[in-house]
Amino acid sequence: RVDANRQAAGEICRMPDGTRIEVVANLGSVSEVAGALANGAEGCGLLRSEFLYLHRTSAPGEDEQFAEYQAIATALAGRPLVIRTLDAGADKDVPYAHLPTEENPALGLRGVRLSLWQPDLLRTQVRAILRVKPYGQCKILLPMIATLADVRTVKAVIAAESEALGRDVPIETGIMVEVPSVALIAAQFAEEVDFFSVGTNDLTQYTLAMDRCNARLAQQLDPFHPAVLRLIGLAADGARNRGRWVGVCGNIASSPLAAPLLIGLGVTELSATANAIADIKALVRTLDMPRCRAVAEAALALDSADDVRHLVATHWPTIG
Ligand code: PEP
Ligand code: MG
Repeated sequence: RVDANRQAAGEICRMPDGTRIEVVANLGSVSEVAGALANGAEGCGLLRSEFLYLHRTSAPGEDEQFAEYQAIATALAGRPLVIRTLDAGADKDVPYAHLPTEENPALGLRGVRLSLWQPDLLRTQVRAILRVKPYGQCKILLPMIATLADVRTVKAVIAAESEALGRDVPIETGIMVEVPSVALIAAQFAEEVDFFSVGTNDLTQYTLAMDRCNARLAQQLDPFHPAVLRLIGLAADGARNRGRWVGVCGNIASSPLAAPLLIGLGVTELSATANAIADIKALVRTLDMPRCRAVAEAALALDSADDVRHLVATHWPTIG
């Protein structure tokens, strides 16, 4: 019944052939929820939990975190909420983690690697997330995954904390696809998790070996690059074969021009900035799946990001 009401309110997004595409919001705090819902967000596909950790001298405790996550879940009124665990390190410093000085911080202890290096940080955060009610609304997303060993280690922590809390409903757990290794052996990763969320900002950085903070490279750091799209396609194929779903939460998902490509590659969730959501939903409701697939396939054979943009613009001249 809730589903039917939301469809009536124009919230649920389907392609004309009935294919369900979830269009959700990237959020950075509870204050952003109302605006996202007003723009038609069907939930939150990426809560960047860094807002709780940055600009302070000690880590937030379990109760403080739980209160924040619960407030966001409640404000979302039953809609899905994907909480990404702390993605610090590299350009985001948390002094109390006492990160060592690194020569290549983007290749160092960032994201889940920092959480595993300081396991108390991870345990506290996982416990706070596991307590959010109702069970089932909230999912966990792990950033900067590169190896199956890291996934298994974090899953063991989640399982242990679930048991300690007496929680009998397993929490859905997914990983960010930000490192090419995950896309390249996606089938093995899909065996371990419930979903993938592609972080094209980092996936582009690590595929093209271009620092996302380097202004001189900004022009070339383009997620429409055919190599990046090919990795997204590999991730989607690996996931689909195991019955897992794939979303995209990097900035490319906020670009209407990307929607036909991502959908054609097998992506079924787009997590965008709030003010892009209404346009993306309106567009998705017009898209033809065979055409999306054909254009995505053709894009993989092109030479450059510019060529890809041009191809999409030729097929859908009214976008953007
Ligand atoms: C990404 O890398 O695409 C992503 C969504 O994560 P962030 O931008 O927070 O690194
Ligand atoms: Mg990232």
